[in-house]
Amino acid sequence: MNEQNILIVRCGEVALKGMNKPYFERMLVDRIRRNLKGFHGIDVKRSEGLIFVRAEKNLDIKEIIKQISKVFGVASISQAVEAPSNLDAIGAEAVQYMMGLIEEKGVKTFKVEAKRADKNFPVKSPEIGRIIGAKVLIGCKVLKVDVHQPDVLLHVDVRSDKSYIYDAKIQGFGGLPLGTNGKGMALLSGGIDSPVAAWMMAKRGMLIEAVHFHSYPYTSPRAQEKVEDLARIVASYCGRFKLHCVNLLPIQEQIVANCPEEETTIHVRMFMMRIAQRIAQDTGCMMLITGENLGQVASQTAESLVVTDASVSMPVMRPLIAMDKIDIMEKAQEIGTYETSIQPYEDCCTVFLPKHPSTKPKLERILESEAALDIDGLVEAAVAAQEVIQIFPE
Ligand code: ATP
Ligand code: MG
Repeated sequence: MNEQNILIVRCGEVALKGMNKPYFERMLVDRIRRNLKGFHGIDVKRSEGLIFVRAEKNLDIKEIIKQISKVFGVASISQAVEAPSNLDAIGAEAVQYMMGLIEEKGVKTFKVEAKRADKNFPVKSPEIGRIIGAKVLIGCKVLKVDVHQPDVLLHVDVRSDKSYIYDAKIQGFGGLPLGTNGKGMALLSGGIDSPVAAWMMAKRGMLIEAVHFHSYPYTSPRAQEKVEDLARIVASYCGRFKLHCVNLLPIQEQIVANCPEEETTIHVRMFMMRIAQRIAQDTGCMMLITGENLGQVASQTAESLVVTDASVSMPVMRPLIAMDKIDIMEKAQEIGTYETSIQPYEDCCTVFLPKHPSTKPKLERILESEAALDIDGLVEAAVAAQEVIQIFPE
């Protein structure tokens, strides 16, 4: 009988990293440990390309699995039992394991899938499968073998030191461990798209910091609280981060007073980008991240994106650019931000919304209109007045 719950964690893309593999594996182990730091009595170790998590039996194993599945770089997780690497011991554990499944789930058929990571083990994989299968049939009289559609696919993984038996694989998100790909400044609105965009970049190993624009008192404190709620959900994947809250109202008023009405939105977007870039430079972020999506609204036509891009020198990552809204919504549901995003609170973009926003802005025209504004002064004033909030995982 195993004294601890054992989890096998598979590394996905990290396994393809060649010379850098040990670095990525170390980062992954570090992230798993961080996500589990609320538990006492857990051991996390790498061994032969896998990560083994051992948790004392009294700990909530479902919650532990949930926390590990939120670590980027994790491809899948299996709860396993362990046996010494000899066929008698593996057979005895396999019988016990199947007995448990018969009792719990009324399992009737099975098939053994054996794998020999230790090539020095004297018996080859198909033969291991046959031998363990025969032992299970003898030990569990109610079971039959079904090689086509078994109720349980019983995995037997023979390794040099110990062997492992498991049936289910819980999928992780894949990606790369956080901290292996710099830091980005996410422009976080209260909508559906931007939290998904930040999450997608974090999934590729990018640490996240965020900026939110409001138009207080036109937008309510509750609208900002909603963004903080969203940020906490994002932080449950990418760890705690700073949310920079900036009041855009003084700039919006200047734009409305000095620029043609149909250009309002594009000017506002350019200022958002500039302010985000200024804060990004101050905080060690290498890129900006937005939830923009080609053609979604007037400010996201190809022409508008070209103009918006011209306002900053930093690369702007738009991970949702070619996705359909329905797929973005599905992703938001999967990561748990959707229900919060659809709460109806006003956004700063809806304040001073023009009746007929320009969908094909020309950069020269936009820059001409902007000449009436003290761009640097407005950006500096907005940055100086920012409020910084520490966001902790929900
Ligand atoms: P979302 O669903 O993310 O709110 P949206 O449909 O509202 O996007 P836009 O208003 O055009 O679309 O915004 C496009 C992107 O600009 C957003 O995804 C976000 O990255 C950024 N953005 C928009 N409004 C804000 C805001 N108030 N604060 C910070 N970033 C914003
Ligand atoms: Mg959008």
